[in-house]
Amino acid sequence: MIVQVVVDAPLPAALEYALPAGANGAGLIGRCCVVPLGRRRVSGLIVGTAAQGSVNAARLRGVERVVDELAPLGAYWLQLTRFAAEYYQHAWGEVAVPALPPALRAPPGPRFGAVLQRMRAATLTQGVAPLPAPVLNDEQQAAVAAIDAAEGFVPHLLHGVTGSGKTEVYLEAAARRLARDARAQVLLLVPEINLTPQLESRLRARFPQLPVAVLHSGLAAGERSAQWLAAHEGRARLVLGTRLAVFASLPHLALVVVDEEHDASFKASDGPRCSARDLAVKRAQLAGVPVVLGSATPAIETWAHAQRGKYRLLTLGHRAGGGRAADVQVRMVDTRSDKPEQGLTASVRSALVNTLAAGGQSLVFINRRGYAPVLACESCGWLSQCSRCSTYAAFHKGDGSLRCHHCGWRVRVPSACPTCGNVDLRAVGQGTQRIEETLGTLLPGARIARLDRDSTRRKDAARAALEAMHAGAVDVLVGTQMIAKGHDFQRVSLVVVLNADAQLVAADFRAPERLFATLLQVAGRAGRAGHASRVLVQTRYPAHPLLQALARADYAGFARRQLAERQAARLPPFVHQALLTAEARAMAPALALLSAAQEAGAAGRGVRLYDAVPMPLERLAGLYRAQLLVEAPRRADLQAFLSDWLPAVAMLARARRPQVRWQIEVDPQQI
Ligand code: ADP
Ligand code: ZN
Ligand code: ZN
Repeated sequence: MIVQVVVDAPLPAALEYALPAGANGAGLIGRCCVVPLGRRRVSGLIVGTAAQGSVNAARLRGVERVVDELAPLGAYWLQLTRFAAEYYQHAWGEVAVPALPPALRAPPGPRFGAVLQRMRAATLTQGVAPLPAPVLNDEQQAAVAAIDAAEGFVPHLLHGVTGSGKTEVYLEAAARRLARDARAQVLLLVPEINLTPQLESRLRARFPQLPVAVLHSGLAAGERSAQWLAAHEGRARLVLGTRLAVFASLPHLALVVVDEEHDASFKASDGPRCSARDLAVKRAQLAGVPVVLGSATPAIETWAHAQRGKYRLLTLGHRAGGGRAADVQVRMVDTRSDKPEQGLTASVRSALVNTLAAGGQSLVFINRRGYAPVLACESCGWLSQCSRCSTYAAFHKGDGSLRCHHCGWRVRVPSACPTCGNVDLRAVGQGTQRIEETLGTLLPGARIARLDRDSTRRKDAARAALEAMHAGAVDVLVGTQMIAKGHDFQRVSLVVVLNADAQLVAADFRAPERLFATLLQVAGRAGRAGHASRVLVQTRYPAHPLLQALARADYAGFARRQLAERQAARLPPFVHQALLTAEARAMAPALALLSAAQEAGAAGRGVRLYDAVPMPLERLAGLYRAQLLVEAPRRADLQAFLSDWLPAVAMLARARRPQVRWQIEVDPQQI
């Protein structure tokens, strides 16, 4: 008896191992096991059995241990991980084994049974103070009814501005599925769990009697394993998690929900570059259950699916809890005529002063942390450059450092220009810290808080700042897009957007989509409790169609334009892409590998290979990086091409000195 085992290694096929004599061959598929691999012992997953192996029986090694203390992973789960591996061009085991919880990724020892018992004893938290659901409005009811009526796999796009009551729709749709079957499980994916504690407590309050499991990378290993186990063994009925939770084992999955489906953090940034959003849809399809993707600003690809009727579109057109979108006035402040001083125009300054005088709260959004993005020498032109990246190091005034926001490199601010010795170094441009300082001078006596990755390095600092904001203990909150996500501020009546222009003119074809999503979300922080409110956007391009669509809160108009532009330029979703990247100690070998790869793929059918070029950020943390774009009008052609081509690329890379590392990303989000 032979078992086929996948392990976390880039191997073209499953490995074969012998079962110990007399071992029971039944019920093995989906079981975790421990196998020897070279000189190591590793965790593996049994994906098949056979009477005979394909290699000489004498050379076959034996399975060291089958973990039969744990129920096998189900057939749908195996299909999902296999699909993901094929789609994202990795080995099955490279997806499946890392998807297991920490306790199973390291080879389980002989006392694993006792470990499992301890994990089972860890109780899942349940809600304490039950919160009754609000009476749903007509649009919400229609959405819930549609999801409830769906039989088998039906994908839905729930489109509604922030505050339109999407979460209530998820909760009610989940409640109905859970009520139908005492074992049913619901999977709810969110972009970042730390910034949405409100959702977790809402879930617990709404389902006080149901065990909720939470899965994200911030949990300690033991905790995460215990939560995973609760889902795998069917004890958890609701699973709330970030992108890694798309691979949770859910034997009784009945509904999948992806909140903020457009969010970039659903795409993995290393290893197999899986999109949890796309895999959530695939997962629902495999399990034959409905899936709901929710957003105020759906990804253009998702919107295209809805327009073509592939996804069912459900719309929430109004704010649910009072405070209509019409109460919010969005206005462009033309920085060509109203010139900013220290980053703030006169219109913005007076709006901030007036809001403070009227007792309202203001949000100031600037997507750059630090004091200033660069430090400059006036006399010789020296600029603070990261020593390891092709980018500037930002000036952080608080601790007097220059820091690279890409690689983390950090040095003390030089007291004089390193090139010419001039002591007059000037901070150029604005960051959150500098705006905070400027606001302090403009609004003496105002309570000003800042929210960015530096201010929240301490655990719970973000939560504290947000709570202060909720409690009305802050007049002005300055921050990066951390201030945009998921917070339901009741008293904000002014939102200021400071530096949207950089992204307005960015080269990446997805930049407009991301900018529109961020701006609409930031703007959505205003007027939640029904006060008349204003959003002011400082820009050199007040007539830009994106900003005009923003002013009308017109996502559909924005998306229509984007789709037309992409169709004309043959960009996704009208073509399918993959990006091959290479990194090395110098640019030449990275480019040379990609050029050789391009040549090796030249005969590919139905695909187009672009020339190898340096990446936009061409040097990162000391490594030079290059990329090669592959494009195909038909997805099947791209997939077929990649699976033929990548083994050849791997061979080319192995033969090269100096060493070049390469990676493939299917459906790249940044080019
Ligand atoms: P979204 O997820 O679209 O941002 P939420 O579901 O969080 O919207 O709803 C926004 C606010 O409105 C929440 O405070 C929620 O409790 C409230 N709300 C939602 N639906 C209703 C309703 N039908 N009646 C009253 N309040 C509602
Ligand atoms: Zn100088
Ligand atoms: Zn750097």
